[in-house]
Amino acid sequence: MDLWYTENHTDDAKFSIKIKEQIYHDKSPFQDIDFFTSDEFGIFFTLDGLMMVTEKDEFIYHDMISHVPMAVNPNIKNVLVIGGGDGGTVRELSRYKNIENIDMVEIDEMVVRACIKYLPLTSSKLDDPRVNLFYEDGVAFIEKKKNEYDLIIIDSTDPIGPGEGLFTKSFYENCYLALKDEGILINQHESPYYDRDKKNMNRAHKRIKETFEIAEVYQFHMPTYPSGHWLFGFASKKFHPVNDLNETAWNLNELETKYYNLELHKGAFYLPTYVKQALDE
Ligand code: SAM
Repeated sequence: MDLWYTENHTDDAKFSIKIKEQIYHDKSPFQDIDFFTSDEFGIFFTLDGLMMVTEKDEFIYHDMISHVPMAVNPNIKNVLVIGGGDGGTVRELSRYKNIENIDMVEIDEMVVRACIKYLPLTSSKLDDPRVNLFYEDGVAFIEKKKNEYDLIIIDSTDPIGPGEGLFTKSFYENCYLALKDEGILINQHESPYYDRDKKNMNRAHKRIKETFEIAEVYQFHMPTYPSGHWLFGFASKKFHPVNDLNETAWNLNELETKYYNLELHKGAFYLPTYVKQALDE
């Protein structure tokens, strides 16, 4: 008998992965957590039935969420990651010697515990001495912070359930206040393709544009997310993601990356016409 994980990307479009077995299921105070094994994507996990991370394509998401800001400002020392319970974003950030401190605020400790057990490569750097883990709501955490971080990365779920507050105008305003003058905000920016994701993308862009001096959007290819076409936001008080790209400084890090490179960095900000139009709607 074949077993399949199926996710509704819309009411009329589904995405399925043949699974070998379900290796974990639990319900935290915040969400349903499920882990599966598969031949095509390795181990993967879902929250409330939505795909989060697979062993096969996580490098794409985690390269693009972390290396883009680090290549713009080589002086980033103090970083806040909101969400990111699988640890992939922290793993990539921990490769930078100049980063002195990484605060990670994840609402759901059970996600982190399960990822440490079932996704050891993704979560491998959560014990880096520079990493401080806080099991709190990122929305409340950021309210207490002023002029503190060089980089904030919102590595969140979609704006449903616990992730909803991470897409509000007041949350983005608090991120602005928590950032230093040279601060950069990167956020999980949803997708331009299907209607529901497009609405979330629009709303996030409008709110961030109203809050930050610079607000750009960049794209990457994520095979297991709805439509495969996904976006991150880059917002800053000072830096432009392409004009201020510091190629010399980034090359000095001598990092090997599987998805990210400096040409792609620039190209990722050149958006298809329909995406540019959708962002302006
Ligand atoms: N890369 C994946 C993606 O984009 O779907 C996964 C990102 S990571 C697993 C998302 C994390 O955000 C989850 O572990 C979830 O518990 C956490 N999260 C959701 N709402 C949150 C909140 N308000 N504060 C802190 N963490 C939150």
